[in-house]
Amino acid sequence: MSALSRLDPEVAGIIEHERTRQVESLEMIASENYASAAVLEATGSVFTNKYAEGYPGKRYYAGNQFSDELENLAIDRAKRLFGVDHANVQPTSGAEANMAVYQAFVNPGDTIMGMELSQGGHLTHGSPVNFSGRLYHFVPYTVDRESETIDMAVVRRLANESRPKIIVAGATAYPRAIDFAAFGEIARESGALLMVDMSHIAGLVAGGVHMSPAPYADVVTTTTHKTLRGPRGALALSKLEHADALDRGVFPGTQGGPHLHSIAAKAVAFAEALRPEFTVYAKQIVANASALAEELVSGGVRLVSGGSDNHLLLVDCNSVDISGLKAQNALQGAGIITNRNTIPYDQRSAYITSGLRMGTPALTSRGMKEDEMRRVGKWIVRVLKDPDGEGVREAVNAEVAEFARAYPVPGITDAIAV
Ligand SMILES: *Cc1c(COP(=O)(O)O)cnc(C)c1O
Repeated sequence: MSALSRLDPEVAGIIEHERTRQVESLEMIASENYASAAVLEATGSVFTNKYAEGYPGKRYYAGNQFSDELENLAIDRAKRLFGVDHANVQPTSGAEANMAVYQAFVNPGDTIMGMELSQGGHLTHGSPVNFSGRLYHFVPYTVDRESETIDMAVVRRLANESRPKIIVAGATAYPRAIDFAAFGEIARESGALLMVDMSHIAGLVAGGVHMSPAPYADVVTTTTHKTLRGPRGALALSKLEHADALDRGVFPGTQGGPHLHSIAAKAVAFAEALRPEFTVYAKQIVANASALAEELVSGGVRLVSGGSDNHLLLVDCNSVDISGLKAQNALQGAGIITNRNTIPYDQRSAYITSGLRMGTPALTSRGMKEDEMRRVGKWIVRVLKDPDGEGVREAVNAEVAEFARAYPVPGITDAIAV
């Protein structure tokens, strides 16, 4: 930081403010986490300076002996972590990893099945405002109105009717376990490839607390910065028979030079996730989400599907008679950071929404457990039940800031201490 604060105090000051915000608030956005000091150090390393278009041993630039060593190490660790034949560590983001897979395995106009976006799917699973929806013919599957869980009978029927080239399983706002084995069976029956986008739950898969897609999926994509706690970036995995096509889909199909500094940090994160402590961490994320879910439900807040099997909850804000937008803003005023989200069969727009998505990965990274989740749950209920009460918001905000400061933040306060 010292070079930066000397040479560019303006940017250094903004970063300092963000650092304080991350320490003093409760980060409950389900897709966020705190990377370790080692991951941040690798991200800020001299590999930022290097171009390495191509793959290890087949680069289009000179000077890549250490890039090759680094990328091979990251690939080996990724393969070990997820028990797969092939790993491509170059995708720079989850969106680009998905683009690379479509580029590799289908042509524009081909049919792909993905989860309905307003019910938990991702933009890159066929949104009309995204490249995916513009280039490919997406057929969406939905959740059951009663159980609010994925209806595998609907998935099977749609797959047999529409004969997609790819079926995408995976979501951004789905609080329940996904049955990848069942998706695999349907994909085989209908002659589709199964692509699992495990971006949200990769850390849970690595920690053994969610079914792994590896035995069932032809291709798996994931971000590395969510439950996995790595740098911003992504990863694509596949069976050996799809390795060449996948690699060509990434480079030269959709990307130029790999981000070696991110690849260095991914390698660090994979090693962290291979340690036994990571399994303990992943279990705690899920235990924390369950404890939080119970506290909210007992406070009179309805959750979509009634609870959570993973790291996230989806609050039905109709149960406290407010919109998702209002709930998000009221909680932000109290130092609790979440995001509004549509819920299945939402009556409000995607901007206003009736839902609130929250997750426990970042709080769990700070060492919080079930007792802390119950305290956080009580604060959330207090604010949601009186979203216009300035007094309540301010009182909770003061308590939250004091509470939050007591828990070390990986990569921030634990690094300052040493
Ligand atoms: C987060 C996410 C992505 C996109 O990742 P970016 O790195 O933001 O591009 C894609 N798919 C799913 C399911 C996600 O949760």
